[in-house]
Amino acid sequence: ATPMSIMVGIGKAAESGILIRNGEALQTASRITTMLLDKTGTITKGTPTVTDVILFNEHKEDDIMPLIASLESGSEHPLAEAILSYAADKQYKTSQVSDFDAITGRGVRGELNGERLLFGNQALMNQFDIDVSRGAEQAQTMANEAKTPMYFARGDMLSAIVAVSDPIKSDSVDAIERLKKKGVHLVMLTGDNETTAKAVAKRVGIDNFIAQVMPQDKVNEVIKHQQNGEVVGMTGDGINDAPALAQADVGFAIGTGTDVAIESADITLMRGSLHGLVDALAISQATIRNIK
Ligand code: ADP
Ligand code: MG
Repeated sequence: ATPMSIMVGIGKAAESGILIRNGEALQTASRITTMLLDKTGTITKGTPTVTDVILFNEHKEDDIMPLIASLESGSEHPLAEAILSYAADKQYKTSQVSDFDAITGRGVRGELNGERLLFGNQALMNQFDIDVSRGAEQAQTMANEAKTPMYFARGDMLSAIVAVSDPIKSDSVDAIERLKKKGVHLVMLTGDNETTAKAVAKRVGIDNFIAQVMPQDKVNEVIKHQQNGEVVGMTGDGINDAPALAQADVGFAIGTGTDVAIESADITLMRGSLHGLVDALAISQATIRNIK
């Protein structure tokens, strides 16, 4: 690879909002065989909003949502933001929760008025022996619609299910089709549940996905593919993605994502669109072709 052609490639990329850290990243990108893609904030907009509130035990939303919002006040998760902005719209008042704990990959717990509150996924409910069977069917239906259902338990009882929807970026489907035409093997990674992950993957045309990935396990997915002899790209936006971005042969950060992701990546996609990813691969391949 001549230094001149690499400089030209990096300059051309920069003009399209693709920031390439060095010549090695540009060259390796042309050889990527497998691309791992984070779901939330990478394929989807990463701004979930509340779509459904289902109540049990004859509770009223006005009684339950303030409790959930109080619990989520301690969390910085995008799902917490969805709950809090919904609660703010409805002008629900929040109270101070004690013994707050965020349980990675599962949800949140805390105490209010001597009562234990839990809000999160099925794994969280299993952990605390909460029976969710009477809500399971509705949760499944919502997950099939690509929504993320979360369970709320007050004491030992399931009290509500709240679902959020995180819209797919308008150009993700087209960009993913372009990626597939390049012959790159695609795998979507998400901490979200199996059913929701499957529904999103199907909507965007990705055949392979891994759901319920714990944040610390994304890097292991990269290593696993590398051990199979693949040249692995990873694209993500979150703090959770940073170790995997650093481990990948080429890490691509979404420019609208967190600073930690950008610092860990080799290439930053300033436009925040997956088209930037395909363009980066195309520029990289064109550069290598010119060299040969
Ligand atoms: P992701 O970044 O894909 O959402 P996480 O590992 O952060 O992955 O979360 C996995 C799952 O755990 C979420 O889909 C949600 O069901 C549950 N969860 C995590 N944090 C929270 C929270 N603050 N409130 C409710 N549920 C949560
Ligand atoms: Mg993300």
